[in-house]
Amino acid sequence: MSLQQELHYGHFIDGQDYLGHTPESIDVINPANGEVYATMSMGDKGDVDAAVAAAKRAFNQPSWREMSNNDRGDLLFKCGQVIGAHAEELMFIESRDSGGTIRRAAGMDIPIVIDLIGYYADLIKTTNNIVDLPTKPLPEAGHAQVWQEPIGVCALITPWNFPIFIAVAKIIPALAAGNTVVIKPSEYTPASTTHLVQLLSDVLPKGVLNVVNGDGASVGEALTTHPDVGKVSFTGSTCVGKHIQKMATESCKLVGLELGGKGPAIVMKDADLDLAAYGITFGGLFNSGQACESGTRILVHEAIHDQLMEKLAAVCDTLVVGNPLDPATSYGPIANKNQYDRIMGYIDGAKQQGLTFVCGGEPIKPKGFEGGYYVQPTIITDVKNDMDIAQQEIFGPVLSVIKFSDEQQAIEIANETSYGLSAGVWSDDLVHAQKIAKQLQAGSIWINDWHMLRSDAPFGGYKNSGIGREFGIAGLQAFMQTKTIGVSLERDPRNKMMWSLLHTSPQQ
Ligand code: NAD
Repeated sequence: MSLQQELHYGHFIDGQDYLGHTPESIDVINPANGEVYATMSMGDKGDVDAAVAAAKRAFNQPSWREMSNNDRGDLLFKCGQVIGAHAEELMFIESRDSGGTIRRAAGMDIPIVIDLIGYYADLIKTTNNIVDLPTKPLPEAGHAQVWQEPIGVCALITPWNFPIFIAVAKIIPALAAGNTVVIKPSEYTPASTTHLVQLLSDVLPKGVLNVVNGDGASVGEALTTHPDVGKVSFTGSTCVGKHIQKMATESCKLVGLELGGKGPAIVMKDADLDLAAYGITFGGLFNSGQACESGTRILVHEAIHDQLMEKLAAVCDTLVVGNPLDPATSYGPIANKNQYDRIMGYIDGAKQQGLTFVCGGEPIKPKGFEGGYYVQPTIITDVKNDMDIAQQEIFGPVLSVIKFSDEQQAIEIANETSYGLSAGVWSDDLVHAQKIAKQLQAGSIWINDWHMLRSDAPFGGYKNSGIGREFGIAGLQAFMQTKTIGVSLERDPRNKMMWSLLHTSPQQ
């Protein structure tokens, strides 16, 4: 066995590594070359019980419950410092785990995660958890306060496409609000989240942040149905999200769902086509197209269709697909074999339908990485909006182009989808583009760009793309619950107006 194969990712519970109470483990595969590089403990309900119990104990510790917002903010800043100090190893682990490029990890994941932590650290320091409502006038003077409180133990379930980023986007607001956490990363990408939790344990009290590795059927379901879990925050596919919501309903848990997308990008006649060609490919092919808010339905005015297709093909020609650890690589492998097979299935289906391939449509076998899961940048045109490749989330480097002849038609096509995570407009008329944006049914609309996520801007889906919002103030409030405390200042029972509904002659 090589040194690399000796790597094992277990659980992390109550401030320490924990292998789990069963010896079961599965292989972890590097998608860049298809090789097993580690093993992962397959957790079960018993491991979830242990982690939730640790998180519950930590939540009930006065030192955690009564920590001031100022101290909590300081603690979060320390988390950011830990991540900054270990950025290189986290980037490498993330790349090997998920196939994301080191260029992405260095240019996006680490900076955005540190920015997000700084944002929530600042936000919680200036958050007042108690708001006084105006006192009601005499004779029945009353006073009410609205308290924002943590929920308790939060279960975070994450996917494989941006493991660290999505984990941090949930962990940090959950901790900022005063909760404790059990996180379950995707079974395809356990490494970076487990390592991140281990690193953060240097600054966090024990039991506040726990990780249980395993698959959805065992660990995911056990978390979702656990009576001591107060909130489930899930990012993943719409189908699993709906299932989680049903299960969590049984015990009245709060549920946040960040689900799939099929973002429409409307390219108007007046768009700057060079800008659009680079932007559309950035919007749809970044991270091998494995981003929920990618722009993957490209709605193009028929007058500019041919010209834009030429430009898109030329831009795709310049993309370098291969070794994710090479800083020159544009995008790396698909994150796992199942997903690769799914993508190739959609591409083969489009070929069988006789659709026009502007470019791509084949796997790639980069030299030295022949065992990895690489797909060419693929653009398919003459697509109709009711076809599978226009309606279903492919989650790969595949763009479906649909022609339109007038603006109203484009808006209708854009909205004819069960998803509503992102949408966009390419146009030189910014005022008019905003009028179009108003009519698009999606949580994020971008004009002349894509993936414009910000720490302070709420992000989430309309329709089947989710429930609730992450990032911004909404992202913090999603991990809080509200309590109203009413104090009556009236001591004379005769002046209590509502009491007269029951009592006829109260004595003073
Ligand atoms: P997935 O739904 O298969 O899995 C996501 C997570 O859920 C994994 O940790 C998995 O183990 C777990 N899971 C699976 N079955 C479960 C069950 N029955 N109970 C509890 N947990 C269960 O998704 P994926 O394939 O890992 O990720 C890709 C999907 O995620 C895409 O649809 C993508 O659009 C979506 N996604 C959405 C966002 C967003 O912010 N909206 C971000 C990234 C990815």
